[in-house]
Amino acid sequence: MKMSKYYVPTLREVPAEAELISHQLLLRAGMIRKLASGVYTYLPLAVKVLKNIETIVRREMDAIDSQECLMSALCPSELWKESGRWEDFGPEMFRLHDRHNREFCLGPTHEEVFTNLIRHELKSYKQLPLSLYQIQTKFRDEKRPRFGLMRGREFTMKDAYTFDRDEEGMRTSYFDMWKAYENVFDSCNLDYKVVEGDSGAMGGSDSHEFIALSEVGETEIVFCTSCDYAATDEKADCNYTVTSTNEKQTLEKVHTPDTKTIDELETFFNISKDNFIKTLLYTAGEETIAVLIPGDRELNELKLLKHLEVQEHGLEIAAAEVVQEVTGAAVGFAGPKGLKEGTRILVDKRVPEMVNAIIGANETDYHFKNVNFGVDFEGEVVGDLAMIKVTDPCPKCGKTIEMERGNEVGNIFQLGTKYSKALKATFLDENGKEQLIVMGSHGIGVTRTLAAIIEQHHDENGIIWPMSVAPFHVIVTVVNSKKEDQQALGEEIYQTLKSNGISVILDDRKERAGVKFKDAELIGIPLRVNVGRDAAESMVEFKLRKGGDTQNVHTDALLELIKTEISK
Ligand code: ATP
Ligand code: MG
Repeated sequence: MKMSKYYVPTLREVPAEAELISHQLLLRAGMIRKLASGVYTYLPLAVKVLKNIETIVRREMDAIDSQECLMSALCPSELWKESGRWEDFGPEMFRLHDRHNREFCLGPTHEEVFTNLIRHELKSYKQLPLSLYQIQTKFRDEKRPRFGLMRGREFTMKDAYTFDRDEEGMRTSYFDMWKAYENVFDSCNLDYKVVEGDSGAMGGSDSHEFIALSEVGETEIVFCTSCDYAATDEKADCNYTVTSTNEKQTLEKVHTPDTKTIDELETFFNISKDNFIKTLLYTAGEETIAVLIPGDRELNELKLLKHLEVQEHGLEIAAAEVVQEVTGAAVGFAGPKGLKEGTRILVDKRVPEMVNAIIGANETDYHFKNVNFGVDFEGEVVGDLAMIKVTDPCPKCGKTIEMERGNEVGNIFQLGTKYSKALKATFLDENGKEQLIVMGSHGIGVTRTLAAIIEQHHDENGIIWPMSVAPFHVIVTVVNSKKEDQQALGEEIYQTLKSNGISVILDDRKERAGVKFKDAELIGIPLRVNVGRDAAESMVEFKLRKGGDTQNVHTDALLELIKTEISK
């Protein structure tokens, strides 16, 4: 490919809308353009890298005998109604009608469609185990599409589905997939951790997430410094305890003008945050729910959702009018004592142990102090509702934990019989007895993986592609395209490399050298050959994008050098 013909509209400026480095560099390197919120156009360079990632994925799926299929993105609603997810997916699902007014969705994931495929024809235990996958476009109307390809509303996923005769088979398929995912992410040169995840809308039991580490990642993970425990923060149990030997004192109302947040209260009372009880108000359908947690803690919404048995879209932070109605006060003064009758009060297990705590008084500008559970208020104690903190003990062994951030690039699930039961996907065992197929489902975010690679492989000048996914392995830059000898030698090297099967791009544009060098760095091609002043002597400059090592090389030695670098 020649740069003079290639469509790579690079940008010098950092686009204002992009916070994340991968988003900035994808825009600047002329790889993506935004079409609508969370919807992107992929330009030639991006398509090349995506194909390379897909090649790695296909190789590893092949290696575990998973077979590639391709399902439609357009899915009839009936299947989703059978599984119950037409409701469960809520507003995240793109829904539409055809001209006959039949309902469809644009598939956010394909458990139902794959289960439907096999339920009609797969009959015998002899046909199991079976593993199928596809690489296909998914649609999710995300609440907060952001960070470029990290959280789009349209994205590419590799989704695999495994079908086994029993739990043991399902687990074998699960660990095969786990190993394949490790190979995929190793091949993409990603630094990642595998952690326990939540099963969320998928249902089923065990699940693991592959988290590409990044300081600005959306997911926080917890891992133990002593044992093998590793989980997402929302999955992790928070096992700290509170104890107090103080004697219970009598309730007192305190005038706290304009003091609403925990930080403001901490200053006002000159006492640490763990002495306050936070009262968070939510609505779930008709119900208003007050959730009480210690003041130095964040609520783990996932634990709350699980306790309430509602989907994410079924729970909302109460609107200001609702707060006003149930507390009779402005936002910031809610407390469990004297809430409107009918408000459900859920209490984190630490709250009853707090002695002489401080709560909102349900009256604007007032708080109560010396508040004690069982004396001044009651509530349903539901166990652990707090988000784990790095100072907490390991949920498994009690030792010290560490926390890091990252982006979920893959997720494997043991589904069990959730979908086979709902869609009646059965087989006959050796005894002719009908059994439910035991399933697994396994996703890789292909487009998110692309972004995650850039997050980990870049410098101040641009992207630094790992060789395995690079759009081209080599860029040959003609330093001064007005000089015929440079143009001619550049062309010759380009042809030689091409005929030797090396993926190469020739920068033959009539641009200043500085512009070409900047673009070469920005688009991150791992190996650079600069054809300049010494072209007449067949000498060129050979440079590694990573680390910037430079050497002058005779063209006779160039091919071997490049081959060696590529195979490293
Ligand atoms: P998240 O928690 O980030 O919303 P998820 O757990 O809902 O993702 P899965 O259903 O597990 O996602 O989908 C499989 C993979 O698809 C994820 O591991 C992720 O890499 C990718 N993915 C999911 N949602 C998006 C999105 N909105 N944009 C890009 N990739 C996504
Ligand atoms: Mg997931």
